[in-house]
Amino acid sequence: MKAIVCQQPYRLDIVERAAPTVGLGEVLVRIRRVGLCGTDYHIYAGRHPYLSYPRVMGHELAGEVEHAPVGSTFSPGQRVAINPYLSCGTCVACRKGKPNACVTISVLGVHADGGMCELLAVPESAVIDVAGLSLDQAAMIEFLAIGAHAVARAALSAGDQVLVVGAGPIGIAAGLFAQLSGARVTLIDTRAARLDFARAALGFDDTVAVDEDIAAALAARTGGAMYDAVFDATGVLAAMTQSLAYVAHGGKLVLVGVAPGDLVFADPEFHKRETTLLASRNALASDFAHVIASITAGHIPIDALHTHSFDADDMPTRLPQLIAEADHVLKAIARF
Ligand SMILES: [Zn+2]
Ligand SMILES: [Zn+2]
Repeated sequence: MKAIVCQQPYRLDIVERAAPTVGLGEVLVRIRRVGLCGTDYHIYAGRHPYLSYPRVMGHELAGEVEHAPVGSTFSPGQRVAINPYLSCGTCVACRKGKPNACVTISVLGVHADGGMCELLAVPESAVIDVAGLSLDQAAMIEFLAIGAHAVARAALSAGDQVLVVGAGPIGIAAGLFAQLSGARVTLIDTRAARLDFARAALGFDDTVAVDEDIAAALAARTGGAMYDAVFDATGVLAAMTQSLAYVAHGGKLVLVGVAPGDLVFADPEFHKRETTLLASRNALASDFAHVIASITAGHIPIDALHTHSFDADDMPTRLPQLIAEADHVLKAIARF
């Protein structure tokens, strides 16, 4: 089979590889769509902290069942998505029902070879039926699930005022699911193009460009109180630190993006709010199910999120172009 291998930073090769051997309890999936995200761009550019090369990227995956084990609930030809977070099932986090934070988590396309190939064998527990969705829609479940998980972590109440910092795919996903929870959402970003797209195509009605007056603009929107919950989806330390100033007294700060380095808050600022600080990592099976139900119910502008498509054979040339055009790309999906 063909596979797209990131041999080293800035080098993608399409190579011929043996088809995977299918282990006990595994489903063989014929990959049809792979969504791209910041993680892939970081791997390609050599900026991912825990990555060893060569690596087959691809963790936003949709395809069709090629072969299922005897007794499986899946059958050949069935349209599926894949939960790429493979967990051990026995560690302290897994025992608490938090396999998204498994001590030895292996994310397909990051820690292990992923889906930029023709066939992928995965545990049946990672395979998700998406019969009612198109392949393109199914390839967008994973990044939406990350946003849905962050919103679930925050346990929002209807009418909450929510601020989302960063209007990339994850921030957009968090904003959409916060709205579904009944929150009023303000979206901020340094990039005007992202905010224009969020307003015009995705239905966000309150966006603010980050400039020197941002704090005053946010205070004005909240009667001076600031926000019940602030979601950081930048993964930029300076933005994450600044976000505390936008949390209301009694509010929550949810860190969705991850940044290399130390995050430092002034304790009086943190303490006087009695801030609830939450990290949000990956997503749970329940988040995937919530995303699928929300798409099916028509609550997510799913097709508008999908801004770019191309053939997998063009990956070596298209990936660098998409990185260069990132301000104008929400979700790019490769066809396999
Ligand atoms: Zn991703
Ligand atoms: Zn575990």
